[in-house]
Amino acid sequence: MAAQAQTIFINGAWSAAASGASIDVRNPSDGEVFTAIARGAKDEVERAVQAARRALAGAWGSMAGFERGRILARLSQLILDNEEDLAQLEARDTGKPISQARTDIKATARYFEFYAGACDKILGDVLPFLDGFQVTVQREARGVVGLIIPWNYPASMFGRTLGPALATGNTAILKPAEDASMSCIRLTQLAAQAGLPAGVLNLVTGLGEEAGAALSNHPDVDFLSFTGSPEVGTLIQTAAAKNHVPCVLELGGKSPQIVFDDADAELAARTIVGVITQNAGQTCSAGSRVLIQRSIYDRFSALLAEKMAAIRVGAPAADLQCGPVINATQADKVKGFIDRARKDGIKVLAQGGMDASVVKTGYFVPPTLFGPVPTTHELAQDEVFGPVLAAIPFEDEAEAIAIANGTEYGLVAGLWTENGARQMRVAKKLRVGQVFINNYGAGGGIELPFGGVKRSGHGREKGLEALKEYTVAKTIVLRHG
Ligand code: ADP
Repeated sequence: MAAQAQTIFINGAWSAAASGASIDVRNPSDGEVFTAIARGAKDEVERAVQAARRALAGAWGSMAGFERGRILARLSQLILDNEEDLAQLEARDTGKPISQARTDIKATARYFEFYAGACDKILGDVLPFLDGFQVTVQREARGVVGLIIPWNYPASMFGRTLGPALATGNTAILKPAEDASMSCIRLTQLAAQAGLPAGVLNLVTGLGEEAGAALSNHPDVDFLSFTGSPEVGTLIQTAAAKNHVPCVLELGGKSPQIVFDDADAELAARTIVGVITQNAGQTCSAGSRVLIQRSIYDRFSALLAEKMAAIRVGAPAADLQCGPVINATQADKVKGFIDRARKDGIKVLAQGGMDASVVKTGYFVPPTLFGPVPTTHELAQDEVFGPVLAAIPFEDEAEAIAIANGTEYGLVAGLWTENGARQMRVAKKLRVGQVFINNYGAGGGIELPFGGVKRSGHGREKGLEALKEYTVAKTIVLRHG
């Protein structure tokens, strides 16, 4: 596409890439190009970092917390005022069903609302020390932060990272994913309209290996937040380490849903299938393994199969349970997992059906339930990032815990049992960042600290916990005699 897309926002001004290069933007529902974004790279990142550094030294750096809060609150309201436009844009750009897109936009507004309230409550400590001394610990902004976000929930990831970053007084450069930048561009316009001073938020659209790499390798960035694949997470952390820049990484998972024989089977089955097909399975915390106690394996997997068969896949406007995946590469990747599992002789227990709105050029994949899946198989170990669920039987509590903890990931776990003692016993033994008991909130819960262990990453976003990530403690020791 020849148009010079003006989607880069630096120091309060929109521009195209200095190179003039742009990237086509496709609609995942039909594969058609519908617009273009600027292909920002090293030069734009350089200018954005300088603008963010200047803004930090300006009015923003000394603004009272409550004033920052008012700007974030205005942004939250502007997002709600523009909810339908933003949702339509998000659905077109990502392929997600329109109801899901509306939910995401509401969540984006909630992030700014939540963190608006936190701006004037960044508290410090007074520490007991020696007689004649006064010790305070205050939390200061990290400074200039780089936010590299993925394409699965672009708008809400904008809120999840930028909300706490701005609440704590940082300035930011946000690099949206090249596959889904549209809502971030619109949200950046709204942030400026809300009164965010120039340079506080800079948006650089572009490719991961160009703009993303330039940002993560930049020596004048004070902190990085990255959500995406473990492979890119390794690149980001390596780059950050070279510059001694701290980072928070959220790198996906292979989250288990553990169903004991005393579970509310109907609620569990409905939730588990809903969660793995939500957003076409492209959710870091999707429960992609269902561990079923052997005594109920046949009955429960039949119930799951019934729910999976009822899932309908379609274009966003059809507003069904599942849309297309983001692009052709992702569709091929998910189909590859399905084909290999079939070839390996693993039984397909059920597949969802395609709606009339599905066209051949769109990136649709069939939601699929496999079982029983051996614990060593790639379907039980690797993140598919698609609507594919692996059913795995277990005998008892000890085996359930061993299987649940037996992958390289550790993000979220779901636990389905009415036995109160077992709920807490098992929850404590799971090596993950969040445990849901008799419910499962993939993607939701602005208030809830979120992040993983092992290959799922480190650090915590969301909730008040995120405020710690985006600040650093300074200890001041005064001797007053
Ligand atoms: P996903 O599986 O979600 O595509 P990626 O890790 O590829 O995950 O992408 C997540 C984000 O990281 C996107 O914004 C992408 O542009 C960016 N990214 C990809 N490669 C790099 C890289 N080498 N350096 C920095 N950022 C990158």
